[in-house]
Amino acid sequence: MEYDPADASSLGDMTDSEFREALALVGDWVASYRQRVGRLPVLSRVAPGQVSRALPSAPPSRGDAVENWIKDLDEIIMPGITHWNHPGFMAYFSLTGSGAGILADLISSALNINGMLWKTSPSCTELEEAVLRWYAMSMGLPADWFGTVCDTASTSTLVALAAAREATGLNIRADGLAAKPKLVLYCSEEAHSSVDKAGIVLGIGTQGIRRVPSDECYRMRIDALEEAIRSDLAAGRRPFAVVATVGTTSVTAVDPVSEIARVSQKYGLWLHVDAAYAGTAAIAPDFRWALQGCEEADSLVSNPHKWLFTPIDFSALFTRHPETFRSAFSLVPEYLQTESRGAVDYMDYTFQLGRRFRALKLWFVFRHFGTEGIAARIRNHVHLAKEFADRVDSHPRLERLAPAPFSVICFRARPEGLNDERALEQLNAAVLEKVNASGEVFLSHTRLKGRYSLRLAVGNLNTTGDHLRRAFQLVCEAAGLAL
Ligand code: PLP
Repeated sequence: MEYDPADASSLGDMTDSEFREALALVGDWVASYRQRVGRLPVLSRVAPGQVSRALPSAPPSRGDAVENWIKDLDEIIMPGITHWNHPGFMAYFSLTGSGAGILADLISSALNINGMLWKTSPSCTELEEAVLRWYAMSMGLPADWFGTVCDTASTSTLVALAAAREATGLNIRADGLAAKPKLVLYCSEEAHSSVDKAGIVLGIGTQGIRRVPSDECYRMRIDALEEAIRSDLAAGRRPFAVVATVGTTSVTAVDPVSEIARVSQKYGLWLHVDAAYAGTAAIAPDFRWALQGCEEADSLVSNPHKWLFTPIDFSALFTRHPETFRSAFSLVPEYLQTESRGAVDYMDYTFQLGRRFRALKLWFVFRHFGTEGIAARIRNHVHLAKEFADRVDSHPRLERLAPAPFSVICFRARPEGLNDERALEQLNAAVLEKVNASGEVFLSHTRLKGRYSLRLAVGNLNTTGDHLRRAFQLVCEAAGLAL
């Protein structure tokens, strides 16, 4: 097609009236989705390739009407959605994209700002500073910590460990790793795989990551940590960081952070705390204990997109040493030079330049629920999980495999006389498949000290005691057990 300047007036975006109509349609779609999500099969039933086969192989050469996009959304895309916002979603970490968060994400897209510099949207920077201060305060963490929003905990941990590497003074930023001492970092055998990934990206290598054994409650063993540090020092390696976990992925165990902080200080190591899931629990004063000792940390990550009703993605990274993050990451090409007059330019503290206006959704979440409302909902989830755990504990043929300090329960079916681990694994894997095929609930699994375990997580705002009673019934039916 030739360029015709006479057409230029029709080359803009949707008109205002087209947009209003489309917004009403989409708004209606979202509202009715929220209403009916609990009646949909929670786990998608499509076969691999089914969605891609239904999509045209080439893009349309001419646009078509929003009604047609929505029709295809319903017919092609929705069958391939696993509904994380479903009250029966109890796999991994159950979460909620709350109404307030959804609304904020819509506004954030409409504003479409990039908060790379203070100047490129002062409110983006200053709201981020304020809501992260609120978040830290509400968890009982120091309100003067510096906070920055990342997409995920994986990114937050990578950024924090890059700062830890910078803090060694080895000048790796300029020289690279060649001819430097071998760096070593420590985390428990229960720590999340994002720690290993950070180590890989930072050139520490998987051989530089020590997985410290955990105790019978899946918490990092301090004696084993210190022994590992000593043996690395004796071998001429350079320990530089420890990652403690508050709420491990499998069983939500809480590492002894105060003691880990003491060891970190003794050996001059950076302490990063991964509180991605359980940090938020500390908004309820009765769960403050979980973050005990964390005020000693050099950095800490907690994810509002896990248990703080904030739509994916939102990970909060806090530190006492923003200047170390700056010296690890600040790099300002000419076109980004600006007179910031003492304001924070967030691009200086992580490797990403452009950044979405994520702070808006946490702000709306706090505005809607308030800290008391959040705390009450956390307590309710823990209460529901405890009721489920009690049901497991009082069933003679179900076995709990770990303590449940928050809202995650690890358990398995164990029929009378069945002791062989392989047979138990086969049985429980089959139970999981049957339960998940019901479409009513979605559970996941893990492996605990070699034993296959079913895993149920409570965290969705619409999950009730009825959903948990139904989950229990489905497990018993699938395992051939009486209720
Ligand atoms: N840390 C812990 C303890 C986790 O359980 C998870 C994920 O479940 C992560 C980190 C990674 O989270 P993200 O998906 O935000 O990278």
